[in-house]
Amino acid sequence: MNGVYIEITDVCNLHCSFCPCGTRAVSAPRTFMPSELFERCLNEAATVTEQVYFHVLGEPTLHPGFGIYLKKLEQVSSARNDGKSLSLTLTTNGTTIERTGKTILASPAVRQVNFSTHAYAELPFEEAAENLQDVLDFCRMAAVERTDLYINLRLWNVGDESSNTWNNYMLEQVNKAFGRTGSADENSAPITLEHFCSRHKSFLVEGRIYIHQDSRFEWPAAVSDDDSTSGNSSSCANFPKGTCRALDTHCAILHDGRVVACCLDHSGQITLGRIQDNSLLNILHSPLAVQIKEGFTNHELRHPFCQNCTFCKRFK
Ligand code: SF4
Ligand code: SF4
Repeated sequence: MNGVYIEITDVCNLHCSFCPCGTRAVSAPRTFMPSELFERCLNEAATVTEQVYFHVLGEPTLHPGFGIYLKKLEQVSSARNDGKSLSLTLTTNGTTIERTGKTILASPAVRQVNFSTHAYAELPFEEAAENLQDVLDFCRMAAVERTDLYINLRLWNVGDESSNTWNNYMLEQVNKAFGRTGSADENSAPITLEHFCSRHKSFLVEGRIYIHQDSRFEWPAAVSDDDSTSGNSSSCANFPKGTCRALDTHCAILHDGRVVACCLDHSGQITLGRIQDNSLLNILHSPLAVQIKEGFTNHELRHPFCQNCTFCKRFK
């Protein structure tokens, strides 16, 4: 597998309108994954992948044990006896980077950092600008101290008028921070919105720092309790057409240990098992997992949750 998503917390300090985490009731319970469970997730992830993420929902750097969890990851990685490693692609909203940046840079297990800078578009301008400045300061530090670290600054919905004000501002600040101010040389020419199109989504800023644009996706709607345990080919002969790479390239473990098919299933609509009760390999070979995966191979969306999903339309 390319990666396993481990949701170390479902807590976030932002309230993005497009995210189920940001729009949950303030009174909804919030959870931080306990250390013992986290260790089990890491050890199980190491049996199927070389890469983990620390999110499904939530802002991972808010976990009080975030620094310790990086150390545990380093330990699990170096204890592997199959010649492979286990590294982290950290996706963060960047709001804590002034406090957590040094810890992240000091951890050799962090291979890539994705900053969800598109989330700032909904914040009051001053707060957004401050967050972006902290992220760019981190990038400049990383360009010197961690030349091996990949960084992605994410933009959303380039070309959409409602996003353009923030996207333009962000590009201006990136250009300023990295001295991309008008030379004809492509390494120092400013990056503008016009550079992006469906075939050119990623631009190199400097070293291993990129700006990446994508379009906003919709989180699939939950299904009824009866439907969520189905995904059974005998219950329906004509499945909607479609495929997905989930269970082949990735799967996810929620903050309470439920293993789900993909990183969009934040509420456990396709719960395949619990990592406390079974190995990840066994769970990925459970009848439900096999059934769903077989459906993807045959271009059939067998699970009702997948039938509600528009994200999979990206995969032909
Ligand atoms: S920052 Fe990320 S996790 Fe937090 S509300 Fe926004 S999209 Fe959701
Ligand atoms: S089709 Fe959608 S909901 Fe189903 S596994 Fe793929 S991404 Fe997840």
